[in-house]
Amino acid sequence: MTVYDLHCHSTASDGVLSPRALVERAASMGVQVLALTDHDELAGLDEARAVAEEVGIRLVQGVEISITWAGHTIHVVGLNVDSDDPILGRGLASNRGGRAERARRMADELARMGIPGALEGAYKFAGNQDLIGRTHFARFLVERGVVKDVKTVFRKFLVKGKPGYVPHQWASLEEALVWIRAAGGQSVLAHPGRYQMGREKMRLLLSEFKHLGGDAIEVVTGSHTPDQVPVYADLAVEFDLMASVGSDFHAPGEGGRELGRLPALPTRCRPLWSAW
Ligand code: AMP
Ligand code: MN
Ligand code: MN
Ligand code: MN
Repeated sequence: MTVYDLHCHSTASDGVLSPRALVERAASMGVQVLALTDHDELAGLDEARAVAEEVGIRLVQGVEISITWAGHTIHVVGLNVDSDDPILGRGLASNRGGRAERARRMADELARMGIPGALEGAYKFAGNQDLIGRTHFARFLVERGVVKDVKTVFRKFLVKGKPGYVPHQWASLEEALVWIRAAGGQSVLAHPGRYQMGREKMRLLLSEFKHLGGDAIEVVTGSHTPDQVPVYADLAVEFDLMASVGSDFHAPGEGGRELGRLPALPTRCRPLWSAW
């Protein structure tokens, strides 16, 4: 059985390992097919591809695009994308463009709550200054001793209704799917179990995703509990979507799932790679 991990992050976005260190770690964990899927960024792919060749694993060129749909922030993973495609490149650049201003506003919000220095503090954790994001702020808050770990940050800060949250308008679902298709890739609805929406709204999202040409959903992800896996396996079958698998690994010891350490896809799912 081939070991797939089709979702993870490097220092090109909010992971802590360089593309080189990430691919080497994946290989040592037994991953045979790895997709690097940095947020709104392709800059890590060249190094990842070269190292994958060195260590003898297959690298799938990926990206995780932030979108806004019906007031929710949703993530869509593109896999097997051509990193030279100008439509995808321009789209991702425009999505990255709003992050600096959002970061300033997040820092202002935190300062108002009595936590100064967050902007500089967060940027210190950003390997890619264009990709400043909430995870960098989370690591700053842990370093400062405000909360004990990154997971707790996302319960007490930086999310809707909590200090440091700033609403943001990302690309549309349709735009993300157009960019991915232009670059010859397949689109995957990332970690559906994480979105705070009821069952009917989830079905609306899946039906729009399918209608707009979406290919797959992440059934097995580091974000799903064991009882969420069969729920999304059933929805994949019902909406005639393929199924993908990814750890969403960001950092050793940060509480997320390890590279390649994932349960098998339920057999009723059609794996995305059956189309490769
Ligand atoms: P951003 O794109 O700047 O809004 O940041 C989103 C990132 O924050 C995600 O990709 C995760 O890395 C991190 N994140 C969001 N929610 C959580 C959570 N509940 N636990 C851990 N990390 C989270
Ligand atoms: Mn992330
Ligand atoms: Mn995500
Ligand atoms: Mn991710």
